[in-house]
Amino acid sequence: MKILPIFIPHLGCPFDCIYCNQKTITKIDLPDNNKIKTLIENFCRKNAEIAKEIAFFGGTFTNLPQIEQQNFFDMVKSFLNEKTGIRISTRPDAISEEILDFCRQNGVRTIELGIQSFADEILSAAKRNYTSESAIQACNLIKEKHFDLGIQLMPGLPGFSGKALEKTIRTTLQIKPNFVRIYPTIVLKGTRLAAWYESGLYQPLTLDEAISISTEMLNVFSENKIQVIKIGLHSDIETEQIIAGPYHQAFGELVRSEIYLRQLLKDFSDKTLCLSPTDISLFKGFDMRMLRRLKSELKLEKIPILIDEKLPKGKFLFTDISPRDYW
Ligand code: SF4
Repeated sequence: MKILPIFIPHLGCPFDCIYCNQKTITKIDLPDNNKIKTLIENFCRKNAEIAKEIAFFGGTFTNLPQIEQQNFFDMVKSFLNEKTGIRISTRPDAISEEILDFCRQNGVRTIELGIQSFADEILSAAKRNYTSESAIQACNLIKEKHFDLGIQLMPGLPGFSGKALEKTIRTTLQIKPNFVRIYPTIVLKGTRLAAWYESGLYQPLTLDEAISISTEMLNVFSENKIQVIKIGLHSDIETEQIIAGPYHQAFGELVRSEIYLRQLLKDFSDKTLCLSPTDISLFKGFDMRMLRRLKSELKLEKIPILIDEKLPKGKFLFTDISPRDYW
């Protein structure tokens, strides 16, 4: 599925959420309608034969006045067909039967909800203005109306705890959305969270904590056949806008390397470690983070290595063949 993301920063948002600065994240102010129309037209013509969605992200789409929603829908209308639909992102408190019927009539197929957490203490500390119960109801209604449902989760918000994470994971498994995005909380300039951080009221997760928590979430969701389509904020965010928190340009890769590392530690033997050439960068990239972790966990000076072209990405094995190298 190909997605054309169109950012409508903060449009329809009832207020600025404590951690959110969409203008920083999307690097644009207000959308220019002519530009959006051209983007949609070019995208649809170029991908005429491919399954695709035009996605309105970065605001609370269903909280916009209906006439403004219609204006965006009309830009896509002439391209809608069995291969082309609309995706929107919104908040759980901007979902109702009427809203969903209006979306359905206008070609919306996928709805992404910024849930962030299913633990009431976090929703309250992060001043989201809805409860876990109402978030669950919004998810269920979206599913009942046969839209694809995606939910965004943010570990590390104020009030975060292992118990809150466990409840969020458990509830997500019960809801069974079509996909999840995991965005560990980072502190952006100009947000209330930044003021809380600066006054010592809020402490973000460390990078290692965020990797470990995201790894756990990814593992559980994958085991339960819930697709995780994004982990960590995108890499072209202006880093000078980030005051604190577990941001890394390749956060998703770090999580994938953590999963690989955990499997490797579980299966480790004193034979030669045989790797796919496509995984060398996992070991040697990111300042050799993975190799250093592996050696320190196993208390080894060097690891015997053999690279096998036939091994697919993400697969390793242990062999009696002599190593070609020691890392
Ligand atoms: S988090 Fe979502 S609802 Fe809140 S201000 Fe940002 S875009 Fe709007």
